[in-house]
Amino acid sequence: MEERVKSVVVVGGGTAGWMAAALIAKVIGKGARVELVESDAIGIIGVGEATIPPIQTLNSVLGIDEATFLRETKATVKLAIRFENWGQQGESYYHTFGAAGRNMAFCSFHHFWTRARQRGHETSYWDYDLNYLCCEAGQFAPTTGNDPIWDMPYAYHFDSALYGQFLRRLSEQMGVRRTEGMIGEVRRCATTGDVTSVVLQDGREIAGDLFIDCSGQRGLLIQQALRTGYEDWDHWLPCDRAMAVPSEPFATTAPYTRSIAHGAGWQWRIPLQHRNGNGLVYSSRHYSDDQAAQLLLGNLDSKALDEPRVIPFRTGRARQQWNRNVVAVGLSSGFLEPLESTSIYLIQSAIVRLLHLFPHGPDVAALRAEYNRQSAREYELIRDFIILHYHANRRDDSAFWRDLREMAVPDRLAQKIELFRASGALVQDQLDIFMEASWVQVLMGQGILLQDYHPLANGPSDAELRQQLSQLRQVKAQPLSQLPAHDAWLAAKMGAH
Ligand code: FAD
Repeated sequence: MEERVKSVVVVGGGTAGWMAAALIAKVIGKGARVELVESDAIGIIGVGEATIPPIQTLNSVLGIDEATFLRETKATVKLAIRFENWGQQGESYYHTFGAAGRNMAFCSFHHFWTRARQRGHETSYWDYDLNYLCCEAGQFAPTTGNDPIWDMPYAYHFDSALYGQFLRRLSEQMGVRRTEGMIGEVRRCATTGDVTSVVLQDGREIAGDLFIDCSGQRGLLIQQALRTGYEDWDHWLPCDRAMAVPSEPFATTAPYTRSIAHGAGWQWRIPLQHRNGNGLVYSSRHYSDDQAAQLLLGNLDSKALDEPRVIPFRTGRARQQWNRNVVAVGLSSGFLEPLESTSIYLIQSAIVRLLHLFPHGPDVAALRAEYNRQSAREYELIRDFIILHYHANRRDDSAFWRDLREMAVPDRLAQKIELFRASGALVQDQLDIFMEASWVQVLMGQGILLQDYHPLANGPSDAELRQQLSQLRQVKAQPLSQLPAHDAWLAAKMGAH
């Protein structure tokens, strides 16, 4: 690779390709030429509709106005994921983007709540979480700027194809050049092994210094050309297929994603303005495609708008997400099932990391090694969080769930669960997108409760603690009296523009 990157070639125009092109063009500006190649004949994967709050940072860096974004991508607000039948059939809990209680120095709220619970105080942990209260009430309006106790972090559900087109327009306005055509050959330098150009089937050649492989599951550059290799995680996460189908929207739009566990997999329901996105993630060793279709279509609660589409996948990651002068972003870099809606975030994080560690100077190898170290860790932390949902189950209705409960999980996760169970303590890894509030909700939601709480929670007397909790509950619920219904907020926001 040359010491200075003058041209960046993005291969692929799905969500990953256009996010990469837009962000790189925005941040690097005229510092490098950005060119994107995509094939209309191949198209995009066309799923990926639920996000997590960092999408707001991306939109804000790109200067995207929220009302325009909501209208153009048919987006709705997402405050949480509601997990149904995961711990046990018939049970449900929310993983919200908020946090229960209030921040207290040295001792988190779940310790106080556990103490109260052990003394017979019968409130749900989620009663102290405004995101949860809004999910249940179907209400929403941004609350930031008031007291931090009312912070209500949110993300979006959106139509990913529309989001891609939106980012394409933005990228082209910033000078990104788009070439349509099917890449038939990847050329490499005989001495360094770096990729030098991609050649389209009609003979056009696009050369570059740095290549971002956003070619999706094909991994055109990272796997097919560079043979980087893939680390499989199917021994921990046995689902290997998804089936997706849109259905008619409901009269009222929920501000959360639903994740409904079934006998050998789970179903998502993502409410958009113009339709519901639905899908089933399942293990092909347990369900045939016909069985999956029957299960999915039988649980839509509204009319299907298309035939179900099967999408096979392989859970794991590319052994090096940056190899030579190719950085894999999006599905070419690896796959984690969409249980916690993390793939689009991983795209954003990969591009931001690349911009921090952008190749320059004589020692690109050191930058590349650091990039790969951070990417691997970030993927593994999300993987562990997803495994937790499957592993910490009490279901007895199928071998699928029993096997997952009994399997050996990665050491880091096993230690995390044990530490939490024994003491309520959680250690935050800097590269973990999921903070303590998220882990606590999923651990407790899946039925892992603390055996003991932190001694600092013994500060107030029993009566004081009860009073503090009941006040906190009232304060948390206070904004509800003024917040509009989610649909009303969407209509007003888009109409006001
Ligand atoms: P693609 O969309 O597949 O794009 C690949 C691009 O490469 C296309 O433009 C194609 O034309 C181009 N290309 C390939 N080969 C060639 C060639 N030879 N020549 C020219 N161009 C080529 N993520 C979330 O964050 N939330 C979710 O809720 C979510 N749900 C998902 C559900 C399922 C079932 C799956 C499978 C994924 C889900 N994801 C989700 C992940 C999300 O869909 C992807 O991360 C996202 O769409 C990015 O895909 P991509 O751009 O990497 O690949």
